[in-house]
Amino acid sequence: MMSTATHEHPAFRAASMLIGGRREHRARTLDVCDPFSGQRVGTVPMASVDDVRRAIETADAYRAHLTRFERAQILERAAALVRERIETASDLITRESGLSKKDTRYEIGRVADVFQFAAKEALRDDGQAFSCDLTPHGKARRVFTQHEPLDGVIVAITPFNHPMNQVAHKVAPAIATNNRVVLKPSEKVPLSAYYLAELLYEAGLPEPMLQVVTGDPGEIADELVTHARVQLVTFTGGVAIGKRIAARAGYRRVVLELGGNDPLIVLEDADLDRAAALAVQGSYRNSGQRCTAVKRMLVQRSIAPAFTERVVDLTRRWTYGDPFDENKEMGTVIDERAAALFEARVNEALAQGARLLAGNVRHGANYAPTVIDRVDPAMTVVREETFGPVSPIIAFDTIDDAIRISNGTAYGLSSGLCTDRLDLIRRFVDELQVGSVNVWEVPGYRIELSPFGGIKDSGLGYKEGVQEAMKSFTNLKTFSLPWG
Ligand code: NAD
Repeated sequence: MMSTATHEHPAFRAASMLIGGRREHRARTLDVCDPFSGQRVGTVPMASVDDVRRAIETADAYRAHLTRFERAQILERAAALVRERIETASDLITRESGLSKKDTRYEIGRVADVFQFAAKEALRDDGQAFSCDLTPHGKARRVFTQHEPLDGVIVAITPFNHPMNQVAHKVAPAIATNNRVVLKPSEKVPLSAYYLAELLYEAGLPEPMLQVVTGDPGEIADELVTHARVQLVTFTGGVAIGKRIAARAGYRRVVLELGGNDPLIVLEDADLDRAAALAVQGSYRNSGQRCTAVKRMLVQRSIAPAFTERVVDLTRRWTYGDPFDENKEMGTVIDERAAALFEARVNEALAQGARLLAGNVRHGANYAPTVIDRVDPAMTVVREETFGPVSPIIAFDTIDDAIRISNGTAYGLSSGLCTDRLDLIRRFVDELQVGSVNVWEVPGYRIELSPFGGIKDSGLGYKEGVQEAMKSFTNLKTFSLPWG
């Protein structure tokens, strides 16, 4: 979001808010700008507190009674439409986020997967049955379970880094469970959210099941998390805002997917070419802006020089710049402010004794893939989440050191491990304080169906992923019947 742009992009879009199927414009708007060119690519309306109330009340007044078949049909059609429109959709994300076409095409594939999995899950009745004649005082009865949609409204608040997939991960499980949602996407990338909502209506979603509002969070966020008819807030974003939401939400369910500071841990038996390839992909894909990006490389000291050399070599070949250039691996980061923060953190580390091996060059929101070594775990660049294409290399001596350094930040999202030693793999799986451990994969590896989420400051332990989100968006009811 910038208001300094003087010229408009040819594909300029003036989006309208979506409340109960009405498309509403407002005199007050927010500009959306392409981080690479600075061009204005669109505007979105700024909702007032009254608009937010109306969106929540509209959602609340509607009751969805779609059959499992109907829900699956809508989600399958949405998956098909997303796949058909991959270029249009990925162009839109690239324009408003600066992410490269390679990254945004990949994101669209993930969005289609989310809808596909949600369609399949909608068809699956996961009710359980318990016989009651199990003990001496048992009875001839059975207890059954069923998941029911919430009585109130789900508020979904999403971050900027995967403009469509973050929205899909909240909206698809809600549709699959017959819930009603008010979505507030990031004001940095709101056009993708409006696009996806329109696509879902086209796929047959009853419009009151999904409202989309945008605006200044300082003005509207409080109403979103405290309105009496909001029963669950699902939030993905930074730790500070997540904790503020948890404090404000009171007697409501809160699902928080917060920041990460994920290590890639490389042990001395590792194939270094394979480890270095994972390291750079994990560090630079999506411009390093993944909650599960590799934010620290922990490397056993004996192999650190050889590993570092490979990482530097691959980094120099990681092309970046114009996000629409098909030959570029990486586009920009979200805005100039973010790029300047990475540069400042790297400069601070250099002043404290780290060594620059590649990158740390900045033009506007373009920030070169950057490698630094001789990094100490106490330096800000690795103690805090550095949400960009920076590869800090930390050498360690013993397995105990690796585990201690890995667990030594406030975060606990995911991790990657490069070793073939089964005895050590078991130790890391048991002792890393994280939500996931991926052996010979980047920390971000997952499928859209499987449970995903962190502990410590990265989240309260309630998971996302289509299946877990469907559970958290429902109430589990039991009922019992005479049986026999
Ligand atoms: P952010 O926390 O700045 O913003 C996230 C959302 O919160 C935006 O929609 C914003 O408008 C809204 N918001 C701002 N102030 C608010 C308030 N007071 N109350 C309620 N909502 C408010 O995050 P960001 O910069 O957009 O995203 C990057 C962060 O998200 C990183 O920390 C990243 O690790 C994290 N993230 C986590 C996951 C995960 O699954 N754990 C996934 C992606 C991103």
